[in-house]
Amino acid sequence: MSPIMQKSPVVLLRRPRKVPPKAILHRRSLQLRLLRSRSRIPATSPVTRKTDHARALKIYDRLMAAYPDAKCALDFDAPLQLLVATILSAQSTDKTVNTVTPALFKKFRTAKQFADAELPELEKLVHSTGFFRNKAKSIQGACRIIAEDHAGKVPQEMDQLLKLPGVARKTANVVLGVAYGKAEGVVVDTHVQRLAVRLDFTTESRPEKIEEDLMKLFPRDQWIHLSHLLIHHGRAVCQARRPRCLECPIEDLCRSADKVLA
Ligand code: SF4
Repeated sequence: MSPIMQKSPVVLLRRPRKVPPKAILHRRSLQLRLLRSRSRIPATSPVTRKTDHARALKIYDRLMAAYPDAKCALDFDAPLQLLVATILSAQSTDKTVNTVTPALFKKFRTAKQFADAELPELEKLVHSTGFFRNKAKSIQGACRIIAEDHAGKVPQEMDQLLKLPGVARKTANVVLGVAYGKAEGVVVDTHVQRLAVRLDFTTESRPEKIEEDLMKLFPRDQWIHLSHLLIHHGRAVCQARRPRCLECPIEDLCRSADKVLA
């Protein structure tokens, strides 16, 4: 008998690959979900992503029902005013900014007027918002570019906005979304950052990465309003130190370790 012929019976006896029955697959899927909820394994498989997407949309709908009037809390009448107010809102509150802007916008009405302002006067007007020197400098620098390169109009393109001093993606997204209705991204401020993690929308900590995850999870037509809803919920209920989980409209959908139910 040739060596080849000797091997053939072994090949015939090899056992066919066992396919796990449906029940086992189901149990494995349940175990994986349990593991995810306990250990926060990031969602990677397409099936899990689909589940997360459905959950995210449910949360969006609930927040919409809970906060039908949620909107940008900064007072403004024109894109330039919103840009200036958003620069001022860094490390400050919208409430404080709204106490400063009426006098500021009365004094300076155009980008050219802001650009030609005496810096100490500008600093004095925005003093109470904190970091007033940097903010005044940014506002003046941004307005100079707007006056000289954009005929006094705040640009509507993300790349052009990002060239302005004091403007990063958060500010650019506020201007594009709120003033122009353009969904180019999601505003990630401190509230959105905290809630995106608590609600398991992301495992990232950097705002740009969180924004990317939110953009993948939510449809584009929800990007602008999503940040309004999360900011509103973060201020009203899901506060940083002690979230008011007993009053939370999405408590049953929240798996956060920060939950306070007593
Ligand atoms: S249950 Fe608590 S932690 Fe979760 S979203 Fe609601 S308020 Fe925030």
